[in-house]
Amino acid sequence: MIEIFLFERTLSLTMAFKSCARTAGEKIAGGRGPGVIFLLLWTFFAMPAFASTSVTFPESWDLGQAFVVALSSHTSFDEPSVTWQGQAVSLDVEPGREGYVSYALLGSYVRDVRAGEHPLVFDFVQDGRRFRVNCTLGLRMRKYPEEHLKVADKMVNPPKSEAARIKKEAQLATTARRTMTVKRRWTTPPARPVSGIFTSSYGFRRVYNGVPRGYHAGTDFRAAVGTSIRAPFAGTVVLTGHHYYSGKSVYVDSGNGVISLFFHMSEIDVKKGDTVEKGQIVGKSGATGRITGPHLHYGLSLAGQYVDAAPLFETSVTALLKDMKTEIVRP
Ligand SMILES: [Zn+2]
Repeated sequence: MIEIFLFERTLSLTMAFKSCARTAGEKIAGGRGPGVIFLLLWTFFAMPAFASTSVTFPESWDLGQAFVVALSSHTSFDEPSVTWQGQAVSLDVEPGREGYVSYALLGSYVRDVRAGEHPLVFDFVQDGRRFRVNCTLGLRMRKYPEEHLKVADKMVNPPKSEAARIKKEAQLATTARRTMTVKRRWTTPPARPVSGIFTSSYGFRRVYNGVPRGYHAGTDFRAAVGTSIRAPFAGTVVLTGHHYYSGKSVYVDSGNGVISLFFHMSEIDVKKGDTVEKGQIVGKSGATGRITGPHLHYGLSLAGQYVDAAPLFETSVTALLKDMKTEIVRP
């Protein structure tokens, strides 16, 4: 593989990266030996001119909103991942329009992430070598409104007897949201889980009975008790339960850190380990847990970051990538 190394180093002198910097990684296989010059020349002539590898990502994006990034190449690559907000996201490799492509759906939880420049790092193996591409993505401040809600007092000040249960459920939820599988089962636009309108949006700073309690980490849909809930993405059920705050809940992993959450259900029709297709019924909406009335809370967690799912119902990966910047990281 040494020829690729030399070939690449020669050409990299003429390449300039604006917001991405590439680290020449370690060689995985191969070594120096006789015939290096011959192999180098051979590579120059044998390598098609269009054999390039590139990354696509937004230069800036709003806090709380989901975005797509892509790694694509004319030649195959392995073990692709992207690291964002300290979380490495394992990616799938799929046939693309011009070779191979990997997609990630990412975002930032408005509660935990601040506006400003953030590192976005791509890693992949190609031609037997590891590559790392360091990029920067600017997150723009976005103001989300305040929302005052009246709920049962025990949902703001839970009795001490429930403390252990609440803690255990939080741990189960965190573990479910950390699920990281390689196969991409999420496709855009997602299917609407119920047909009702949005009654409360993501990002609202919530004040329960006059007490501030963080941010709304999902989208509320109007849904009468008993309305069938459909999975927005295909995936695998990773957690079900009847939890103190979220009521009857289902968590579905759709790959690459994309996890759907359904809260306050009246009936759960799936169990842990079940595979669900896009649009498949996972249960019925209800009024369990911390609620002001019957509705469906749909949460979308992307590599551990709760994002606003609502705009995704109207868009697609192709549309999201359209105006984004593409940088060639290997010629
Ligand atoms: Zn909600």
